Amino acid sequence: MNPNTLSMRLECVAAQVPAGARLADIGSDHAYLPVALINRGAIVAAVAGEVALTPFRAAYRTVCDNGQQLQIQVRLADGLAAIEPADRIDTVSICGMGGETIRDILERGKLYLRGQERLILQPNGGEQPLRLWLMDNGYRILSEELLRENRFDYEIIVAERSGPVSYSAEQLYFGPLQMQARSEAFLAKWQRLLRYKQRTLDQLAEARQALPEQKVVELTQEVRWITQLLEATNVI
Ligand code: SAM
Repeated sequence: MNPNTLSMRLECVAAQVPAGARLADIGSDHAYLPVALINRGAIVAAVAGEVALTPFRAAYRTVCDNGQQLQIQVRLADGLAAIEPADRIDTVSICGMGGETIRDILERGKLYLRGQERLILQPNGGEQPLRLWLMDNGYRILSEELLRENRFDYEIIVAERSGPVSYSAEQLYFGPLQMQARSEAFLAKWQRLLRYKQRTLDQLAEARQALPEQKVVELTQEVRWITQLLEATNVI
């Protein structure tokens, strides 16, 4: 991957960035996303935030190699602390981390947001707690995409602050819009996960040691939800 050839995953994220945006890409690593978007003339300015020194240096190098020091500020900072008021950021992307990590970055960094930014989030797992945070903080989910690349399922969640919003426990688990659309990729993902979770439950039942009770309760609930969803769609 490089700024000229983004992964399918980052292309999906790029497609959600509004034209002419001022983007903060948090956890930018090599800064491929903001550099690609500036190269394409798709955004006007960006901040590439990194908490770790090695990826921060990699981001700075990509920005310099592409002559974009005037358009992209590379900052060594924890999460949303990379954003300064003068940046006038209107879009925040946080991609390629666990959902809980993204949630924690949003929670810790709330004070750096004006509340009008579009959030484009690509969690690697942990989607449920992330969606819960969005709901609890008045963010409506506007778009949810699912794609499979290199044998991994990736979700791209786009949300904006809208005032109170309410999602059921199942909507938080599956994604409210994905649950409605039930795309082929979505159904295939949950068929795979159902097999995996059922196997895990069987293994836990066979293990002749004290079972982690809470884990079993959660897994059983998840298997029930997935089975119901797939049955209702006639794909089980
Ligand atoms: N966003 C890129 C992508 O999706 O391809 C890079 C993802 S990389 C796997 C995750 C990056 O997030 C790492 O470079 C890591 O240093 C950075 N990161 C993790 N926690 C962070 C935080 N609290 N603030 C800023 N960056 C963070």
